[in-house]
Amino acid sequence: MVDVNDLSDVEISSIKPINKDSVHKICSGQVVLSLAVAVKELVENSLDAGATNIDIRLKNYGLDLLEVSDNGSGVTEDNFAALTLKYHTSKLSDYSDLLGVSSFGFRGEALSSLCSLANLTITTRHHKSEYATKIEYDHKGNITNKKPCSRQVGTTVTLSNLFCSLPVRQKEFQKNAKREFNKMTNLLYAYCLIATGVRITCSNQTSSNVKSVVVATQGSLSYKDNIACIFGIKQLQSILELKTECMSNIKDNILRGLSGEVKENEDSVNIEEVEIDLSEDSNDADNIINNSQESITSSQKSQGYKNIPEPVKVTGFISSCAHGSGRSSTDRQFFYVNSRPCEPIKVIKLINEIYRQFNPHQYPFVFLNVNVDRVSVDVNVTPDKRKLFLTKEKSILDVLKHSLLKIFENIPKTLRVEPTVTINNQKVEPELSQPRIFQSFIKQFSNQSDLSMKFDDEHHEKADLKRKSNSNLGSFTAIKKTYTSNIIDKVKPEPDVIDDDDTETQLINKNSERISNIEIIKNADNFLPNKSSATEVLGAQRDIIYLENTDELPNTQIRNITDVVFEKSHTIRCKPKDIQLKTPNLQKVVTDKEELGKNNRKTVNMKTSLAHVKALVDIFNNKKDKYQPDRIKFRSAINPVFNKKCEEELSREISKDSFKRMDVVGQFNLGFIITRLDDDLFIIDQHATDEIYNFESLQKTTELTNQKLVIPQNLELTGVNEQILMDNLAIFKKNGFTFIIDEHAPPTKRVKLLTIPMSKNWMFGKEDIDELLFMLRENQSEYCRPSRVRAMFASRACRKSVMIGTALSKADMRILVDHMAEIDKPWV
Ligand code: ADP
Ligand code: MG
Repeated sequence: MVDVNDLSDVEISSIKPINKDSVHKICSGQVVLSLAVAVKELVENSLDAGATNIDIRLKNYGLDLLEVSDNGSGVTEDNFAALTLKYHTSKLSDYSDLLGVSSFGFRGEALSSLCSLANLTITTRHHKSEYATKIEYDHKGNITNKKPCSRQVGTTVTLSNLFCSLPVRQKEFQKNAKREFNKMTNLLYAYCLIATGVRITCSNQTSSNVKSVVVATQGSLSYKDNIACIFGIKQLQSILELKTECMSNIKDNILRGLSGEVKENEDSVNIEEVEIDLSEDSNDADNIINNSQESITSSQKSQGYKNIPEPVKVTGFISSCAHGSGRSSTDRQFFYVNSRPCEPIKVIKLINEIYRQFNPHQYPFVFLNVNVDRVSVDVNVTPDKRKLFLTKEKSILDVLKHSLLKIFENIPKTLRVEPTVTINNQKVEPELSQPRIFQSFIKQFSNQSDLSMKFDDEHHEKADLKRKSNSNLGSFTAIKKTYTSNIIDKVKPEPDVIDDDDTETQLINKNSERISNIEIIKNADNFLPNKSSATEVLGAQRDIIYLENTDELPNTQIRNITDVVFEKSHTIRCKPKDIQLKTPNLQKVVTDKEELGKNNRKTVNMKTSLAHVKALVDIFNNKKDKYQPDRIKFRSAINPVFNKKCEEELSREISKDSFKRMDVVGQFNLGFIITRLDDDLFIIDQHATDEIYNFESLQKTTELTNQKLVIPQNLELTGVNEQILMDNLAIFKKNGFTFIIDEHAPPTKRVKLLTIPMSKNWMFGKEDIDELLFMLRENQSEYCRPSRVRAMFASRACRKSVMIGTALSKADMRILVDHMAEIDKPWV
């Protein structure tokens, strides 16, 4: 610790300004954070210069070169020097200009920052100039060379050696160039979509001199054409146009009209009679669904007039909420405020939440432009201008909410199905968070009744697969599913679609209707807590069984078992009517208790001495010290609550080689292998360990067989995705997908699907390709598999593996334990 008194010795240096060059370097790194931002800044400059043609060229994903050429206004000679100076801009001169700023740039720091971070050259010709000039700048933004050259009117900015002055960032960029490139294209899409009437192309030339176009818009005046150019025509077929639905304006205006604040004018529209929620919270966008039409409680009828124009206007497109019209991720969402691409966090959240109320399994494609008066937006929040402050945020959210509800109201909702079965007071569902070793261990030895034992055995396969898919195959979505015993197999399936909110009430109603109509259960023994009583039911009185409900439901006769509906909120127990369950005849057991009572013990005399006892104690103490483990490695209790801690301890203490060093002690309960490593005993679930080993081997080695499509399918992938696909053909081939590739076709038309993987019960298609592309974009790995292929492997692995209940020889167990050394994460 530093002694406070010593502080006097610390040299307190005087406060001085940081020198100008250092400040320049420090700040520049904040303005241009990544390749994406560099491209964004240059494209913004071109758009601000009124260009209708912008060509972005990269070499080796931007590592070697980045060049943006436009046919904009160009720069006059007297501005050459100021072009790259910090805080020098032609877009505003006064702070007050900021309030109404309509250009993308206004801070005058992009070019100066790029100068500091890279080698920068600008070639430009103003329309008044007869020739172009090529200007080279140093890192401080000073002109080092200037020479005339030929060029059309416009500007070309060339950057090489990006981030050369920030070594850490440069290394990161070199390491992740492809990922950075993909991020850049996604940001570029935002500008391509919004810039109507501007033709934007972007291409990349790899080191092998192959040039690929990643995006090319046609300069159309319609947003829809831009969407089609980037994402393919198919994307257009699943989107709906957003229109401003202005509930709050009407309300505000009525209130203002009633209070006399607003007078009738020529723009006013007469409204005869409106029914509107005038309660305080009706504007609250957080209560998305609760607050929709039905919850208008304190509505008032009032007369008023609506004033036009609306202060908030939304335009754009969103995926329809019809089943399958959305996307599996949020990869295609573009937000704008006054046509400026940005990230309005609350708007993004609201849109996704509302969409998922209608289509819970997907995310929407979104292209949304919010128009508000410029004075109510603060765009000067971060140097990259991606974050905004909005004074009218609440109204924007409100308008948006109503607009979305309006366009989705007539489309059939997709609903989440989440059935859960309760049998005999035991809720059976996969325990999602438990490592598999503990899971099956706990399952077998904790609270097993006869029924659940049986249940578990029959459905062991399923249960195990599920469990694995959740604990180990991280990317599976966990669908809460329950496993049914024999008798429940006969239960009529619930309709596929159940309204999330109404599930409870619907099912309760159904129960009360149906339960009155149930017949004899043939295999009632599955239902009853113990077998002997079940046999008696069948033997004695066959016909009537009561369902006893623990909650509200009255006791009702069961007539038709197929009508029973099981639901998580009640417990259903079967109890035979009018049957006296016989208690087994207790027979008196004869014991030798009386004998024991008698005092006829034998006596043996032992020879010992105090010295002998002392010696023995010494020996014992010695031994105890000797066998004391050096330290206790595992401290966590075996309890699902501490799973995470257990995992941590295991991964800390056990390396993969440890499994090879483990001694196999034996098998326990035909389900677990007991092993020993030094002072610790381990219990290994024989099925789980074999299953995960088999799964990983399938994952690594299997090449799926494929089937040729009669007509190759046009995939309409984005330019970037096409490139990712072309770069990873081997991975796709391993998964059974092969393609016809035409490198010279325009983006979105270069790849056609030729073969798809074949397997008896599994259908594969474009979604699996999309998923693979998503994975490859996020994380390049040679073992990339779509989740459905993984699910297929999981099911195969399960069937292939040693079952619980199989006796294993020591050699078999040795093999299983040795295999654990090859598993990726054996303790999860
Ligand atoms: P800002 O865009 O915030 O003004 P920049 O550093 O990006 O700051 O650009 C500085 C100035 O250079 C701009 O204000 C503009 O006048 C000029 N400029 C930059 N790029 C172009 C271009 N492509 N065409 C014409 N002028 C440009
Ligand atoms: Mg700029």
